[in-house]
Amino acid sequence: MIDAILTVIAQGRSFVVASHGSPDGDALASTLALSIALREMGKEVVAYNRDGMSAEMAFLPEAASVIDRLAEDHIFDVGFVLDSGELNRAGSFLRDRCTTLVNVDHHPESEDFGDIYYVDESCCATGALIYRILQAAGHALSLPVATCIYAAILADTGSFRYANADREAFLIASEMVARGVSSWEVSSCMYENRSECQLRLLATALKTLKVSDCGRLGAIYVTHQMFLDTGTGSEHTDGLVNYPRSIAGVLVALLFRQTADRCFKVSFRSKGAINVGELARQLGGGGHHNAAGATLEGELVTIQETVFNRLQEFLP
Ligand code: 5GP
Ligand code: MN
Repeated sequence: MIDAILTVIAQGRSFVVASHGSPDGDALASTLALSIALREMGKEVVAYNRDGMSAEMAFLPEAASVIDRLAEDHIFDVGFVLDSGELNRAGSFLRDRCTTLVNVDHHPESEDFGDIYYVDESCCATGALIYRILQAAGHALSLPVATCIYAAILADTGSFRYANADREAFLIASEMVARGVSSWEVSSCMYENRSECQLRLLATALKTLKVSDCGRLGAIYVTHQMFLDTGTGSEHTDGLVNYPRSIAGVLVALLFRQTADRCFKVSFRSKGAINVGELARQLGGGGHHNAAGATLEGELVTIQETVFNRLQEFLP
């Protein structure tokens, strides 16, 4: 599959690089890594995310180049859709805007929406897949590209703490450091650069903490009212779900985040063998074995009940 990608890169002139909405660190950093590298190859490149750049990743090189709207009549030779699981999470309209569409992803059961399908669910981060593509292309990694690849892997491995922090993750990270990436600079930009309001939201969200009687489920929620009260938005909820997961004995952690009236996005995180990706797919969403999500409609208490009941089947 990489050979097919190298061919379309060699033959294409105009490119769009996109990733899923409500983008996480891997989505944005891999978008920038590939966009910058393609520009270095002399290509015309648009970096696109329907929700734009996040404040958290705005320190990345060329972050300002990510746009959240494509001109109506803009047609591209090649579209790369990164880290998305499903085309609709990035934007279904991309199908009609690109002569060749390429899916580059590490989500299990990633949708086969494109002309080229480069999906490796064993890979730690989409940023690592971009690294493999650029290696195969013989493209020398500049410091900006190396910084983005490092940041993508740091983000998706939870700073090298999760099970996906495998040998390849460390090998690529080590090479990026050898190319001049400062591990401290990247992690301080990503993790020690929060706004005060984000901590106020954390404080408010933690007040909603519920742990099940059995001690194996931990859940918190965030409502529109809480965003209003703290001057925050959905972009400030990244990482919140890790707080209930950090409790000893909790095997599944949940964050219910209000996205509209009677609509909640549920983030699932699990420890070890519990496959929350499967649970999320049953609920119409998707994701990985230990990190997944789905969007559900209804009142919060009803949604919580549905999810807790479903979860019983997944607990040992
Ligand atoms: P998060 O809870 O951080 O939003 O998402 C956790 C993981 O699940 C990420 O890898 C994300 O891409 C995936 N994910 C979250 N929501 C959905 C969804 O609605 N559909 C699919 N296919 N994947 C999702
Ligand atoms: Mn990812």
